[in-house]
Parts: sequence; structure tokens; C-alpha cells
Amino acid sequence: MSQKGKIGITTENIFPVIKKFLYSDHEIFLRELVSNAVDATQKLKTLAMKGEYKNELGDTTVRISIDTEAGTLTVSDSGIGMTAEEIDKYINQIAFSGANDFLEKYKEDAAAIIGHFGLGFYSAFMVASRVDILTHSYKDGSEGVKWTCDGSPEFEITPCDKSTRGTDIVLHISDDCKEFLEKNKIQELLTRYCRFLPVAIAFGKKTKWEGGKEVETDEDNIINVTDPLWTKAPASLKDEDYKKFYSDLFPMSDDPLFWIHLNVDYPFHLTGVLYFPRIKNNIDIHRNKIRLFCNQVFVTDQVDNIVPDFLTLLHGVIDSPDIPLNVSRSYLQSDANVKKISSYITRKVADRLQSIFKNDRADFEQKWNDLKLFIHYGMLSQEDFYDKAKNFALLTDVSGKHFTYEEYQTLVKDNQTDKDGNLILLYANNKESEYAYIAAAEAKGYNVLLMDGDLDTATVGLLEQKFEKCRFSRVDGDVIDRLIVKEGSEAGQVEASLSQNLSGIFTGALPKIDKAEIRVETAAMGSDAAPVVITQSEYLRRMKDMSRFQQGASFYGEMPNMYTLVLNADHRLLKGVAADMETALHDKLAPIESEMKGLEARRNAINEAQKDKKYDELTEDDKAMSRQVDDDIHQLEEKRQTVWKEYSAGNPTVAQLIDLALLQNGLLQGEALSRFVSRSVELMK
Ligand code: ADP
Repeated sequence: MSQKGKIGITTENIFPVIKKFLYSDHEIFLRELVSNAVDATQKLKTLAMKGEYKNELGDTTVRISIDTEAGTLTVSDSGIGMTAEEIDKYINQIAFSGANDFLEKYKEDAAAIIGHFGLGFYSAFMVASRVDILTHSYKDGSEGVKWTCDGSPEFEITPCDKSTRGTDIVLHISDDCKEFLEKNKIQELLTRYCRFLPVAIAFGKKTKWEGGKEVETDEDNIINVTDPLWTKAPASLKDEDYKKFYSDLFPMSDDPLFWIHLNVDYPFHLTGVLYFPRIKNNIDIHRNKIRLFCNQVFVTDQVDNIVPDFLTLLHGVIDSPDIPLNVSRSYLQSDANVKKISSYITRKVADRLQSIFKNDRADFEQKWNDLKLFIHYGMLSQEDFYDKAKNFALLTDVSGKHFTYEEYQTLVKDNQTDKDGNLILLYANNKESEYAYIAAAEAKGYNVLLMDGDLDTATVGLLEQKFEKCRFSRVDGDVIDRLIVKEGSEAGQVEASLSQNLSGIFTGALPKIDKAEIRVETAAMGSDAAPVVITQSEYLRRMKDMSRFQQGASFYGEMPNMYTLVLNADHRLLKGVAADMETALHDKLAPIESEMKGLEARRNAINEAQKDKKYDELTEDDKAMSRQVDDDIHQLEEKRQTVWKEYSAGNPTVAQLIDLALLQNGLLQGEALSRFVSRSVELMK
């Protein structure tokens, strides 16, 4: 029997499309052909099991071979094979309804085209100028058949002398695809796509070194594991098995923290193992380590459309025949099964964490640090995950104790509620650099949390929204009495003119610091508290922190850091400065003071007189008068500043106090630091 004909497609010629548009994905041809070979083999095994195939199965290894001289790549199986009728039915008649429209729409997307048409076999034409099928059906009385096609719609079927059961697909590799004749390339592709296929796949023979050369042995070079871990029953597996599988998948990685073995039958099929890696920082390097399989055939490691974003931080394997093997990304997003799978996995992950927390809290706490970035990311990005995670997510205090959210709020409620009924949760980002502030808070009996993770600032913002009447404040956000303001405990006011003079003197002595703005304030904080404290505005600091992660918020990052230097007027050193200043400056400041009072009274009078008039209703005289008094105030102000500055320049205590506060915050550097050291040495004499 010999037959010639046209492949049944309505598009005049599918091959140019396959070749041209599918170029970027063309290596998947190998996955398609090997999968077909595996399917054919498994079909035969099923028939044998049912007793419908009675002959010996024999060796069913699928073999891939390269013949560089002939320029061919061959995929051979000993599966069910095809009769001439079957070739005609399965290979020649491809149902292409509306093919033109579809091709036009998806011309950039190889996977969509192949998936839509069940074009697996035809993907061979992406790399081959001619393809031969040599096949022999398992059915009794079958004969060898050869199908050949050179990439035009014309094919030819002829009898051939293939006498063994199964199919050889022979690809005559095109000139521009010669890399598919390279051993290393094929080995790499097979390892990527076929590593866990359920039937043994051999690529040539194993080699060994002998007499200084690499020589072939008799042993098949099997490239796959036919029964990967996720296909086995969880009860039959030990921790070591899971760890070993992890290190096989991701060599050189640290041991995972935990894992989840997924196994669902309804309403979709899904198996897999997901591992929680240690995530210390830099979320990005942990991504794209979930491999998606469809019946053990590798599909992709880009699972961002299939699992929620935060779960892409997990590592491992998902295998589902219900996720279409060849579909476009946009299709995946809207696929109902994919959505179900995604919410199922989220739930499973939360349940697993909850149960580890419940059954072995000590272990969970120990791993918390490596886990929290993942959990925080999940809570920040998925409402439904937050709802579950809030029961096992932990807060850690500076002494290393862990609490659930509920436990922590109960712990600090009595002591850290302010006069307006707000619960103030204090935290530090760094135990070392914020040491003095932590100590000051602890001296008041407050508990301080440690928030040193990459996502902690964002998490703090989230928890403020979620917890009722609750605010987070970093310990250096203000002096401690103003962080948690209690009835009657407010930091006392300092008499206005003393406050003004002290602030003036210290402002005059502040060194210029790059990217920092410091303003000076006084407070009566008690004689035991530090003489000078530097605080940093919570709001702006958080904004700057967040801007590192948010696009378009970088202007916050450019802004200077805002600090406040708070002078403790109750401290003996400040009292000393104040008394000394009173003696030294009284004669200079008193006349300025009284003149200033006069000018301010005049300013008020003018304002009062002009208050009902619009600017253009004012006479030139009115305006001139106004300007004059402003200028006078300004000049007097400068005069006063000069007095303050001159005084502080000759007062080492002022400079020393400022520098000590800067030093404590890592703000004293370079020349200023060196001046501080010299001055300190000077003072010791
Ligand atoms: P799909 O595999 O999605 O059905 P293909 O174009 O890859 O689409 O293959 C079409 C059909 O050709 C298969 O369903 C199968 O019946 C037959 N076929 C392909 N390769 C083989 C093979 N190696 N052995 C037996 N039959 C095969």
C-alpha cells in the first residue's frame, strides 16, 4: 500500500507559521515528542494489564539518539505504534476550525497554538526540514509503515521493513537548528523537560574515563527518575527523603524549613511538594523555584499566574493534569481550575503553618526568623492569608521572646495604653544602634519589639490598620514620656524664654550634616534622664523606608532625615548651661528681649489694623510700615542669633553634649568626629 495526500488543514501551509512564529519556544519539540513516546508506552502497558495485549512487553525504554553524519535526531519507543489508518487519523487529519483567526491572534505564542490544535507532533517542524515516522503497531498482523513529510502540506505513506513494535520519529534537523544535534544541548533539554517522566528515557550510553579518554559503557544513560517523590504516598516517606529530593531539585541550597505534600483528587487533580526555604532577605533570588508539571512532564517554572505572588517564594513541584499543558499566560489567569488551585494552595499553606505552630511551637519559634519574611509578604499581599496567619504570626521582643498578636496585646495592654486609650506598641529596628532608647523604654517598664526584617516597616503599617486603637512607635520617635503620654505624666513644659535661649544656643552650635535636618527642642524630662536625646520623626522615616520598596515613591528617599535634638532642661548639665548663660548673656540679651517685645507688639497692632483689608486695598504707607517692622524683627533676630552663636562657640559643654547625642546615633563622622575627639582629650587635662 502506498498513499499520497495533503495534510488536512484549512490553512494553506501551517509549517511556515510553526517555524517563523514559534521560534523562541522551539526547543519544546523534544518535550512533545518524548511525551508522545511515553504516552504510547503507557497505553501499551495499560493494554497489557487489562490482558488485551498478550505478548511480551520487553524493554520499554524510550531512546533518544543523534546521528551527526546523517543530521538526524531520533526518538524511539516500543509503545503501541500506529497502523497506516491510525497515522491517517491522528497525524494527517488535524482539525483546524477557524485556524486562520486563531493563528493571527496567537502568532507570538507557540504554546497557545500547539495547545489549541493538539499540535504536539507537528512542533517537530520547528527544527526539522523533514520528519519520518517509522512505526509498527502492537496489533497482530500489523506491518511496518513509514510516513514522511518535508514541511509542505504533502506527505507520503509507504510500507517499510520496521519489524519491531513501536515508533521511531526521525527528525532531519534543518540547517539553522544544528544545535539540536549537539549532545550537550539535548542532554540539557532532556534533563529540563523529561527528568521525571514515568517511563525510563535513555540518551545514549553512560561514559567512563579509560586510558585518558572518555569511552562509552554498555549501560544506558537514563536521564529520568520514573517515580519522583511527589507521586509517592506521604506515609511512606521520611524527612530525609524530602530533604534529599529538595537538594536534588535545588543543589547547593540550605535545607528547607518545612514542606507540604499536596495531594488532591477533587474538584481537581493536583499533587506536589512545596518547601519553605529560609528567606533571610532579597525576596527576588528566592523566586521562580516552583516547577509545574503535567503528568510528570515539565511545563514551566514561571508559575506566577498559577499561584499567588507570595507563594512563588516557596520552592518545589506542582503536578496537575488539570492545568492545560500548552496554553497562553493570559488564558491561565482566567482559567477557573487555575483559580481554584491557587486558593487551594494558599489555604493548604496556611493550614500547614497553623498545625506546625500548634503541634510544635518551640520548633516554629526557632524557625520564625527564617520564615517571617514569607509570612509577612503573604499577609501584606493576600487578605485571606492574613486572616489565617494572624493566629500564628509572631512578634518578637528585643530579648528574643516570641508572642502571638493576641498574647502580645494582652501583655502590654495595662502598661502601654495612653491617656486617650490607644495601645502604643514600641519597637526598635536595630538593637545596637537604638540601645539607649530601648533602655529608656525598658526603664519605664515598657516592652520593646524587635522589627529587623525587610518587610517589617510595611507590616507595622498593616498591623496598625488591623489592630483596634493601636499605634506602633519606634523607640527613638520621641522622648519616652511623649511616646506613651499618660495622664499626669506629660513631660513638663520649660519656661518660654529659657527654652528659647537654650534652643538658640544649641542650634547655633549644630554641625552641618549631609542629608540630615536637625531642629532643637527643650523638655523637662526629669533629672535622671539623659541630658540630650536625638529623636527621629516616625512618619517620615517610615515613608522613606517604604519608598525603597515602592515604585514612584523615591522622592521620599531623596528627602533629608528629620531629627529633633531634645534638651532635657531638668538635667544638671543643662541647668549649668542655663545658669552660666544667664550670667554671661544677661546684659546682651535683656535689651534685645525688650526691643523684641516692643517690635512684636507693634507687629500685632499692625496686623490688627489691617486684618479686614485685602492686600491690594492697603496704601503704600501701610505696606511700607509692615515691611519695616518685619525687617526690624528679622535684624534683631539675627543679632540675637549672633549672641547665641558667640556664646556656644566658647562653651565646650554645649558642643560636647551635641556631639555625644550625634555619636549615639551614628551621625558624627569625619571632621566633626575628629574635632570631638580632640575636644574630649582637651577636657580631660
Ligand atoms: P496529542 O499528543 O496532543 O494527541 P500529537 O500531535 O502530539 O497530539 O499526536 C497526535 C496523535 O498521534 C497522538 O494522540 C497519538 O495517537 C499519535 N501519536 C503521536 N506520537 C505517537 C507515538 N510515538 N506512538 C504512537 N502514537 C503516536
